[in-house]
Amino acid sequence: MPNLHRVLILGGGFAGLVAAQTLKRADVEITLLDKRNFHLFQPLLYQVATGSLSPAEIAAPIRAVLSRQKNVEVLLGEAVDIDPDKKNIILDDGGVFPYDTLIIATGSQTSYYGNDQWRENAPSLKSIEEATRMRHKLLYAFERAERADTEAEERAWLTFVIVGAGATGLELAGALAEIAHHTLKRDFRRIRPQEARIILMEGGPRVLAPYPEDLSAKAEKLVKRLGVEIMLGAFVTNIDADGVSYKHGETSGTVPARTVFWAGGVTTTPFGRKVAERLNAQTDRSGRFKVDPDLALPNRPEIFVLGDLACTSDAKGNPLPGVAQVAIQGGRYAANLIKARLAGRTLPPFKYFDKGDMAVIGRAAAVADVFGVHVSGFIAWCIWLFIHLIYIVEFQSRIIVLIQWGFLYLTFSRTARLITGELSSDTPVPQSRSKAS
Ligand SMILES: Cc1cc2nc3c(=O)[nH]c(=O)nc-3n(C[C@H](O)[C@H](O)[C@H](O)COP(=O)(O)OP(=O)(O)OC[C@H]3O[C@@H](n4cnc5c(N)ncnc54)[C@H](O)[C@@H]3O)c2cc1C
Repeated sequence: MPNLHRVLILGGGFAGLVAAQTLKRADVEITLLDKRNFHLFQPLLYQVATGSLSPAEIAAPIRAVLSRQKNVEVLLGEAVDIDPDKKNIILDDGGVFPYDTLIIATGSQTSYYGNDQWRENAPSLKSIEEATRMRHKLLYAFERAERADTEAEERAWLTFVIVGAGATGLELAGALAEIAHHTLKRDFRRIRPQEARIILMEGGPRVLAPYPEDLSAKAEKLVKRLGVEIMLGAFVTNIDADGVSYKHGETSGTVPARTVFWAGGVTTTPFGRKVAERLNAQTDRSGRFKVDPDLALPNRPEIFVLGDLACTSDAKGNPLPGVAQVAIQGGRYAANLIKARLAGRTLPPFKYFDKGDMAVIGRAAAVADVFGVHVSGFIAWCIWLFIHLIYIVEFQSRIIVLIQWGFLYLTFSRTARLITGELSSDTPVPQSRSKAS
């Protein structure tokens, strides 16, 4: 029996998973390697961070998703290096995996713009662990405010700063405002959670910068209506356990806050950097690989780079954003090109079909740019709900998420309001309000 063409896919995110599924009927031997055993639906991470969904509702075991696809083997392992001459991928445990065609779809990581020390006090939202840490931090803040000794301390615990007013920042701010104003309204005896300050800090001149200006303005109005304060043109200069320092034009200031969340940009991963170095590949400022119009690396037709790790362009040469649709369509295209090549054919260059963008701002409001039509408010929110539901990988999760959202809509209730993990040791409970006093 002739050896089958070996396709090695690194990463079971949107791009890698769709590539594997598109190769379902192809005469190839696929290995899908991921350092996690699950596919994560990142667009709903903020709902885990804000207690409306549980981690398992937005993640699906990759092995289960592909269990019926006979030509794919799913393996757990972290790729750390590449030997392009021998066509091998090397794992952190020394494992070596050969390929004929390689798809690299290992995504990105959060960028603190060179200030990685801020991560400790300002978690970001990229993984399940980070989302549950955020959930911990935000619920813990209300608990600590309830036991604060002084008014200043209570204020600091009830002040929340979100850095970055892109879609994730707005989604977080909207959800936090609803938690403070509705969900927790009756749960405390000393503090009034609805007096919490939620500040959205952004270095640029408007929220949702990549969106059309009218939608940006709508989003700003919607989030302000929820009681969120917006500080535009504010550049963060420091984040520590006491709060956020910033520069605003010629002035500078500090917001005392015990809870800071980072919703800034993304950058390449250490593995991405290593591959770029080994292949002497061209990358952009964020370390994304510049790929050819067929999504393969220049002079390396056997290596595709997809999704967040790639700097893909539209027909006019403008770089495409790091969003799920770019990853999904890229995964489908690369798989179809592999099939075409094996049949001795080729395909026209990758063409991105832009279905639009959307961001949700609270329980029943969103802004959306759907095929160039700008929608906001309740209708945009319904479109958002529908689209997110159909892209959740497992049918069972879709039903559970729909039920959870129904409850949230009717009652403001967030059932996953659990403080998990160790309580912070760096913020000891004040003695005077402890049980012993
Ligand atoms: C909080 C948040 C909200 C978002 N909201 C939206 C939204 O509303 N709409 C939208 O379109 N997009 C949104 N995005 C962006 C979208 O999720 C990404 O563009 C998309 O996930 C990129 O897909 P990908 O396949 O390139 O990478 P990912 O989905 O990140 O998948 C990468 C996979 O590779 C694995 N991996 C990483 N390194 C290695 C390694 N060294 N070895 C093996 N495996 C590895 C990871 O475990 C992961 O499974 C959001 C992202 C975040 C973080």
